[in-house]
Amino acid sequence: MLRLTDLKLPLDHGEAALAAAITRRLELEPGELIAYTIARRGYDARKRGAIMLIYALDIDTPREAELLQRFAGDPHVQPTPDTSYHFVAKAPPRVEHRPLVIGFGPCGLFAGLILAQMGFRPIILDRGKEVRERTKDTWDLWRKRELHPESNVQFGEGGAGTFSDGKLHSQIRDPQHHGRKVLTEFVKAGAPEEILYVSKPHIGTFRLVSMVENMRATIESLGGEIRFSQRVDDLLLEPGADGQQQIRGVTLASGEQLRSDHVVLALGHSARDTFEMLHARGVYVEAKPFSIGFRIEHPQSVIDRARFGPQAGHPILGAADYKLVHHGKGNQGGRGRSVYSFCMCPGGTVVAATSEPGRVVTNGMSQYSRNERNANAAVVVGIEPSDFTPYGEGPLAGIALQRALESHAYTLGGENYNAPAQLVGDFLAGRASREWGEVQPSYKPGVTLGSLDSALPDYAIAAIREALPAFERQIRGYAMADAILTGVETRTSSPVRITRDESLQSLNVRGLYPAGEGAGYAGGILSAAVDGIKVAEALALDMAMGRVRA
Ligand code: FAD
Repeated sequence: MLRLTDLKLPLDHGEAALAAAITRRLELEPGELIAYTIARRGYDARKRGAIMLIYALDIDTPREAELLQRFAGDPHVQPTPDTSYHFVAKAPPRVEHRPLVIGFGPCGLFAGLILAQMGFRPIILDRGKEVRERTKDTWDLWRKRELHPESNVQFGEGGAGTFSDGKLHSQIRDPQHHGRKVLTEFVKAGAPEEILYVSKPHIGTFRLVSMVENMRATIESLGGEIRFSQRVDDLLLEPGADGQQQIRGVTLASGEQLRSDHVVLALGHSARDTFEMLHARGVYVEAKPFSIGFRIEHPQSVIDRARFGPQAGHPILGAADYKLVHHGKGNQGGRGRSVYSFCMCPGGTVVAATSEPGRVVTNGMSQYSRNERNANAAVVVGIEPSDFTPYGEGPLAGIALQRALESHAYTLGGENYNAPAQLVGDFLAGRASREWGEVQPSYKPGVTLGSLDSALPDYAIAAIREALPAFERQIRGYAMADAILTGVETRTSSPVRITRDESLQSLNVRGLYPAGEGAGYAGGILSAAVDGIKVAEALALDMAMGRVRA
């Protein structure tokens, strides 16, 4: 096959126009285009009113070899890359201790799936419940203000991204096409096929729930085992070679001990008690930068109009998204910090995402249709470990900062899981908000209007005040007076890194494989899943000791 990239057609082209464009671009004679498949479809919306679709296509033609020669040097005519997945190892016939995977979010799910597919029959543990039970528990917070600390938006089958927009794009380097393996497995589990080729795929919450169940069934059919409501509270460690420790297993909250010399830690960014345990046990953990801010909500129609102009509402384009960055000049005393939009959810809702009682945290989600009235995104400020010191010291100081902000948000909200909120116009003018305008907030169980000035450190408030008018210059209406800010967005990524070496094992504990978002090696569903694959491969090679490499 031959891959033709960067082929541009107008938004409303018909199927015949695509075939004609291929024939023209490759100078084919009639009948020489046997077939084509769309490898990728994106769009260029820079010229509003003249949005173009951009294709990458795999072409089947008898003239392939000759065309590749003729177009040698043309970066847009190349052989189709091999993106199929190849297993790196196969389980030996007898495995004394099965590998353990802690966490059944995207990272643990893919680590477990790949290990199961290679024959290692992993045991996967998650502190939360299976996804249907978990859904009910999560709704208890949103509807009845009842938090279940072990079963919520952060914890349980499917991990943090289960109640989400299910965006699946990522900017990670992926030379081995592991992302393709993730998308292919998602499609097998029930995701729409288009995720294989659209440039910004998303799944939405509803489908994610049943996909996670299907993937669990696949792992079990391959001899894997998944146990819910099993929180890992301790590690079994023994002195190993070179002054390092060797993992020998884990202790569960029930007191049960599970033996294994190979443990994947796919904890997610909210397992604060587990981070504390790791630090207390001497596992190497360091503080890492992350971001804090608010969720902002606009009418989706404002974003659609600004991004797509007269073509807003076109079914191929769907609800518009955006990505904004402002490198602060410190005009408002913001010390020149960067402010950026994060985890944008077109046509979605703002959700309560705490996992700890007496705290308020925001995030966003949507359904596949993305047809809710509002667009939401986090607007966040990057912070460094040096910013953590007023709140605590050592590698876990970032957690202390998060907890302080989340507790204060709970207080500002009225101590009933309402989130504090303010209209953008009032925030920019420095006055408390008293009543809603054109935009209605979507956050459940509710929001409390007032001032957000004390919700974040002063430098972060100043930086966001400087950024919003700058964003208005990129998206007209962004700083509209009635847009809503809801706080606080603190769980943007992990506040710690559980550092690993080239073998993907902990710096000082052999057999322990820190992975995914909680370990600081991923951000988002796709990258966490890809990291799960990488760690599963490293672990499998170690277990198989190269004896039976595929
Ligand atoms: P997680 O998904 O956090 O999974 C960790 C798992 O470990 C959890 O299930 C937890 O219960 C379990 N666990 C923790 N501690 C223990 C323990 N001691 N013992 C046993 N089990 C334990 N990303 C996107 O790419 N696109 C989106 O649209 C998107 N939307 C989001 C919306 C929301 C509301 C949230 C909260 C997140 C969203 N994200 C999104 C981020 C994404 O969910 C995470 O990046 C991703 O889930 C990280 O995967 P992970 O497997 O590393 O960790």
